[in-house]
Amino acid sequence: MEGAYAIFVAMNNSNDSIKITLLALGCSKNLIDCENMSTELKKAGYNVINDVPESDIVVINTCGFIESAKKEAIDAILEVADFKVPNGNVKKIIVSGCLSQRYPEDILKELPEVDAVLGTAHYGDIVNVVAKLVTELDVETTEKINLTSGKGGFSHLVKDRELSTEAYAWLKIGEGCLHRCSFCAIPLIRGTFVSRPMEDIIEEAKIIAARGVKELVLAAQDTTNYGIELYKERRLAELLKKLSEIDGIELIRVMYGYMDGITPDLIDEMANNPKVAHYLDIPIQHGSDKILKSMYRRDNAELITSRLEMIRKAMPDCIIRTTVMVGFPGETEEDFKVMKENLKKWKFDRLGCFIFSPEEGTPAYDLPDQIDEETKQRRYDEIYELQKEISAEQSKKRLNTVTKVNICSVSDDGIFYIGRSYGESPEVDPVIYIASREEELKIGDFVEARIVDCSDEYDMTAVTI
Ligand code: SF4
Repeated sequence: MEGAYAIFVAMNNSNDSIKITLLALGCSKNLIDCENMSTELKKAGYNVINDVPESDIVVINTCGFIESAKKEAIDAILEVADFKVPNGNVKKIIVSGCLSQRYPEDILKELPEVDAVLGTAHYGDIVNVVAKLVTELDVETTEKINLTSGKGGFSHLVKDRELSTEAYAWLKIGEGCLHRCSFCAIPLIRGTFVSRPMEDIIEEAKIIAARGVKELVLAAQDTTNYGIELYKERRLAELLKKLSEIDGIELIRVMYGYMDGITPDLIDEMANNPKVAHYLDIPIQHGSDKILKSMYRRDNAELITSRLEMIRKAMPDCIIRTTVMVGFPGETEEDFKVMKENLKKWKFDRLGCFIFSPEEGTPAYDLPDQIDEETKQRRYDEIYELQKEISAEQSKKRLNTVTKVNICSVSDDGIFYIGRSYGESPEVDPVIYIASREEELKIGDFVEARIVDCSDEYDMTAVTI
């Protein structure tokens, strides 16, 4: 089947009349997969646009990690379906990513508007799938396509992929996950952890740097595990060092670590390498040892405390982000109180909170003592209120500090530039509004600025110096 598609692609000279929009839902890893597919489609001559109603084909790259993500994905599919002929112009819908990997048959059965599903090991098939659908563009799809067999490893990486922004580039350094947290469906969807060979990452980073992009954001389900199966040891520190030697790269940020992977050599490299952001995103998931154990997490409150001390001792200005989950089965008021007390002690600068949802195929799905929705929501609200105070307090420390800011966009009213310093990750953290003394700044420029307002937990204001 794949061979036949390939021949069709080679023979087709009129792909540029076919308009395709790709929608990226979920996390940064999904965005990278979307950028890869978009690049491949452009290389095959298709007209990739950003306009669902005007498109012939829409690709929805979904997340299926938890209930809210699944709902978001289904809503997005239904919204796109509203634009399908005869009501609109869209002729074919392809659903790719985690939701299709998890529920391919359900999607094809329950959402008849969908013409093809593509699993996480099949991003590289996008051109062939589109080519097949194009042969039936003006008629109903005779045979729905289901390419979801197999998972794990790197499905498809395009080193010269087109980036969604010039301000920074996500760089995938691993795929899948080695851990088996009892609530998490990621290993079921993406397979076990596979590190990407270091030379491959460096090659892609050089291509990115040659285009003028100065900030790299490293992503994997657990970046701190980098190298563990490939080189039989953790090699994130070495990777950071090598990436920092690339001309043009000014800032390297590490996302999604695991507390036990925050090793002394990693801290040392981060503290002493001026190109590595003093920033860490380490999802801890909970603060009570009883719940952490039930979640099959390898860390506990004592380890979290000691690693945070190590990080802050070596890098007092380090901005640390985390994620926690409320409403895990068996979470009593006492467990919840312990988590809150620990969060007050640990003082993460930023925190994201999820509400537990039982996911089919995970051990936590069948655990007794599931928590009712009202209690989950109340605990979520309490964490949110608590963190608001902690973040505001942490943020105040940055008043009057001078920091390098990466210019990412311009505010809607055109008055400010919008940027991020080492302490703000794209998409999840607050931004810095910059009043510039310069005539004109470009997206991706790095400028020195003094923070003049950081009075709450939200965005900051700075002035260039
Ligand atoms: S570390 Fe745990 S929560 Fe994170 S992706 Fe792996 S299994 Fe899921």
